[in-house]
Amino acid sequence: MPEYQTHPYDVLVIGAGGAGLRAAIEASSIVVSVVVICKSLLGKAHTVMAEGGIAAALGNVDERDNWKVHFADTMRGGQYLSNWRMAELHAKEAPDCVRELEAWGALFDRTKDGRILQRNFGGHRYPRLAHVGDRTGLEMIRTLQDHGIHQGIEVHMECTVLRLLTDDGRVTGAFAYDRERGRFLLFPAKAVVLATGGIGRAYKITSNSWEYTGDGHALAYHAGAALMDMEFVQFHPTGMVWPPSVCGILVTEGVRGEGGVLRNSQGRRFMFDDIPELYRAQTADNEEEGWRYTQGDKNARRPPELLTRDHIARCIVREIKEGRGSPHGGVFLDISWIKDRFPHAAEHIRKKLPSMYHQFKQLADIDITKEPMEVGPTTHYMMGGVQVDGDTQMSTVAGLFAAGECAAGLHGANRLGGNSLSDLLVFGKRAGSYAACFAKEQGHGRMDQDQINQTAECALRPFERIKGSEGPYQIQQKLQEKMQDLVGIVRTEGEMKLALTEIAILYERAEKVSVEGNREYNNGWHTALDLSNLLTVSEAITRAALEREESRGAHFREDRPAKSAEFGKINIVIRKGSNGEMQVKREPNPELPPELRQTIEEMK
Ligand SMILES: Cc1cc2nc3c(=O)[nH]c(=O)nc-3n(C[C@H](O)[C@H](O)[C@H](O)COP(=O)(O)OP(=O)(O)OC[C@H]3O[C@@H](n4cnc5c(N)ncnc54)[C@H](O)[C@@H]3O)c2cc1C
Repeated sequence: MPEYQTHPYDVLVIGAGGAGLRAAIEASSIVVSVVVICKSLLGKAHTVMAEGGIAAALGNVDERDNWKVHFADTMRGGQYLSNWRMAELHAKEAPDCVRELEAWGALFDRTKDGRILQRNFGGHRYPRLAHVGDRTGLEMIRTLQDHGIHQGIEVHMECTVLRLLTDDGRVTGAFAYDRERGRFLLFPAKAVVLATGGIGRAYKITSNSWEYTGDGHALAYHAGAALMDMEFVQFHPTGMVWPPSVCGILVTEGVRGEGGVLRNSQGRRFMFDDIPELYRAQTADNEEEGWRYTQGDKNARRPPELLTRDHIARCIVREIKEGRGSPHGGVFLDISWIKDRFPHAAEHIRKKLPSMYHQFKQLADIDITKEPMEVGPTTHYMMGGVQVDGDTQMSTVAGLFAAGECAAGLHGANRLGGNSLSDLLVFGKRAGSYAACFAKEQGHGRMDQDQINQTAECALRPFERIKGSEGPYQIQQKLQEKMQDLVGIVRTEGEMKLALTEIAILYERAEKVSVEGNREYNNGWHTALDLSNLLTVSEAITRAALEREESRGAHFREDRPAKSAEFGKINIVIRKGSNGEMQVKREPNPELPPELRQTIEEMK
């Protein structure tokens, strides 16, 4: 029998990013005992890294904005594969969620008349992103943490969930270990909210930190929940490409929102060469109009640098492949050119983009007020995740809820920038509320001792294997290389099939992995434990991508470059079969009600 401590709660929230904290705040306001657990320290979740802002149709900078425009933008951006109910709720509820954050103490940048300032971002028709310079996530997480702690939420930091426990089709809690001592912890819970963020560490070049190994996706899958849209991995067009040690670190879309332009090695603004039909009417056809848009001219259309991320990433890849890239394998992103238009451009850039200024100065010795940056695509965000009910956020397993990046539905085939932070607030709140109600109606479920014993045994196995056999880092690195090369921005059937063969070999190697040392702060051990999650999500991404025999949004297949009407009506859903095999199914995307279809038509 393994030794473990037991901490029972009504609601267990796994993840202390924006979604987890917002869920915990809501659940605790419904008078239930709530705990948040997180892999690293409180305040270090991805949400803190968010730069550009929170999308909400407040209409402070352009009064033409409203929930209907935001809804239509989100549906169009997601190539009409989003769960329409989630897109509707998100567009309607985001403004109040931002005002609520302000009431709890978040200090946003202001308009001249004192309202929350909003900035332009890709795919959003009007300036919509409430922001705090380019450090919006920091303000958001600080505010939520302060508020949450005063609500009496308990927190277990540096604590990683290994398995969700279930009984008779219902979630009953989770089994975890703490990083400091390697002790096991049991959290019996009446309801569980997954808010574990993304999967970026499945790829070699990524903006994501070490924590993002797809744990929530894998935990849900092994507990019997369905995953959806796993083929849609967002490659953000602008990550740093040089020096190699910082390759992949994000360069916010805010740079382009403030007037930054993309050029190839010939100095050409190549984004004007390829404007998709879907966006032609809304996009400037000359540089002057694009500039006027970024400066708030309501009669101007947005520059093509503010098209959706999937499209820009592919245009950049094309420029690089065709030999028009920058010296270090990217393209140029230039904000310094605005000195031709502004008397105090350098000061303006430092004020609007302070983090970007410091990031390039300190990491690449580039002064972005004077010279262009070199940028290229980086794995950034997971549109796919746990399939949830649009209103309640409950997964297909009773009592198991999911919110934020680890849930699927809102973003369809491509997420618009800024729509994640608002997603966290709207659906974190909903998940917390419905999880608390579920907990109030249900008692604790039965703890399955076999599940606990098996998880503990399996977790300790790497210590028992023959020392000197393969360690976890080599396997992790190999997987990242294979996913980058074979299931990346441009995909083909042959390469994806090869990826499945490689993943199968890596599963076998992971089964034999050994670690040195003891259970206290043992990074090698933690990496070995993360491996199975990374392999599960990598297999799910690859199988879903093979099943979608078309190109749409972030999923681009060189062997099937066109969109297909048939696939435009289905989501790819993945479940664990009774023999442990991964099952892939096509499911019809819920049909849009006529009034929302009409809204989309009106906003064209
Ligand atoms: C550099 C960068 C800039 C961005 N800028 C923007 C922006 O301007 N606007 C926007 O809308 N979006 C932006 N995004 C995306 C956005 O920040 C994320 O999608 C969002 O913060 C995810 O929030 P979350 O609450 O779902 O998860 P996260 O904030 O990622 O938190 C996940 C939590 O889960 C915990 N966790 C994970 N696995 C386990 C486990 N097994 N056990 C216990 N705990 C676990 C982690 O420790 C962490 O606390 C940006 C992302 C990055 C990386």
